[in-house]
Amino acid sequence: MDKETVVCLVGAGPGRRELITLAGLEWLRRADWLLYDQLLDPALVEEVPAKCRRIYVGKQAGRHAMKQEEINQLLLDCAARGGVVVRLKGGDPYVFGRGGEEALCLRRAGVPFRVVPGVPSPIGGLAWAGIPVTHRGLAGGVHIVTAHTREGLPGERYQALAALEGTLVFLMGLERVEEICRGLRAGGMDPATPAAVVSRAARWDQQVLAARLDTLPALAARAALPSPAMVVVGRVVELGEELSFARELPLWGERVLIARTSDRSGKLARLLEEAGAQTLQAPLLRLEEAEGALDGALEEIGSFDHILFTSGHTVELFVDRLLQSGRDLRSLARAGIWAVGESTAKRLKERGLLCDGVARPPRAEGLLAALLPRLTPDSRVLLPQSGGGRPLLREGLEGRCRLTAVELYRPVPEEGAGEELRRELEEGGFTALVFSSGAGADQFARTVGFGPKLPPCYSIGPVTTKALERYGITPVEAQAPTLEGLRDAIAAHRKGGEST
Ligand code: SAH
Repeated sequence: MDKETVVCLVGAGPGRRELITLAGLEWLRRADWLLYDQLLDPALVEEVPAKCRRIYVGKQAGRHAMKQEEINQLLLDCAARGGVVVRLKGGDPYVFGRGGEEALCLRRAGVPFRVVPGVPSPIGGLAWAGIPVTHRGLAGGVHIVTAHTREGLPGERYQALAALEGTLVFLMGLERVEEICRGLRAGGMDPATPAAVVSRAARWDQQVLAARLDTLPALAARAALPSPAMVVVGRVVELGEELSFARELPLWGERVLIARTSDRSGKLARLLEEAGAQTLQAPLLRLEEAEGALDGALEEIGSFDHILFTSGHTVELFVDRLLQSGRDLRSLARAGIWAVGESTAKRLKERGLLCDGVARPPRAEGLLAALLPRLTPDSRVLLPQSGGGRPLLREGLEGRCRLTAVELYRPVPEEGAGEELRRELEEGGFTALVFSSGAGADQFARTVGFGPKLPPCYSIGPVTTKALERYGITPVEAQAPTLEGLRDAIAAHRKGGEST
């Protein structure tokens, strides 16, 4: 077997991307194979490297989930092909996740494996619903029970459960709410005991239905909350109202689709998550590096008078390639360094370069205005940039100096992403759609399409708004053309909507 082959059972945590552990995320980012199922945030699936093969093994509309034996076999097959195989599971792999069976199968086949625990939904998921599973004076223990057995749990089992001191959490019990409540009452539990159904815990569409053991069944039947859901029984349910921190977050209840075109969208996603939203960076584009594109320019790097940077990604690639070629920042000593905007300037600073000029406003026009008076026809200017971007800068410089324009990377469409997103949009799976560039709008139009059922759209600034208007979309525009501006626009728009 390949020397580095290992299978890692990783817990994804309940429902939202950021609840995975640090170790879990690191394994995802190293994965050669990913086997995942339906109880987890699809944003996690986007964390694997581009080269990773992704295999969905969960339930599919109209089709049954893959059988456990088939999944076990698939794990062995992937391991036989070699590399890092990540088996990603909702919550914790060993809490009703059949992780133990998979681990045994791997052990018996002699395949090295690891387990990265996850936050179980019956603990961490309930925290998002405001319910602490134990609480001094209210619950001296917690019991996590499956309600999924062929004939239901027998009366004696309910009797035993009813006698326990503490919180009971039933998993896989959405169809059995009536049976659970009846069983516990018959087993001697007080009908006034607080009880709740928690649906889609920690997700943007979380719902909590809190009642009592005797009233919950009828209420749950009427509410018909969607799965996955847990049934929680015990006095801690009473704390849910008071401890529901999630409801107070400015973007709670939002699921934002970010048209991803640059590495900035990762930062935007984090900002929105901090404010309580769930996010998905639409995998529309991959930034594909043009191998060797910079080699010629690096050979004569010391002869440039000015170097222009038009994105953070260009900065990263440029400095990485410079170092790889055996040179360092000293070879840029005589060149003026220019950035198209503050965020590019910040990236330059992080990589040890201060700017001689930053465009204000952050656009090609501003950069040209600042730079042109400094140029003579003999000035040598290096412009490393993205293919498929706006040609304005290049056109504005041509004929005014000796320009070397290099296409460092180009965005290429991500195969197959469109269909899945289209379906989710139609089903109302997003509450906001965010664009931080005109290129993002164009790419979205090409890959997913602006269909009839769209949530409110947001634009980072005038250029992006114009691009969206070409597709008949009138977006809400951020007041300040920054990522924070976009976040605030969503919060403000939603407030406005609430008061009408
Ligand atoms: N390993 C998982 C549990 C898998 S069993 C964990 O640790 O969380 C699947 C059951 O877990 C579902 O039927 C449901 O009862 C519960 N569940 C999982 N995710 C949930 C969520 N986000 N909200 C509510 N219940 C959830």
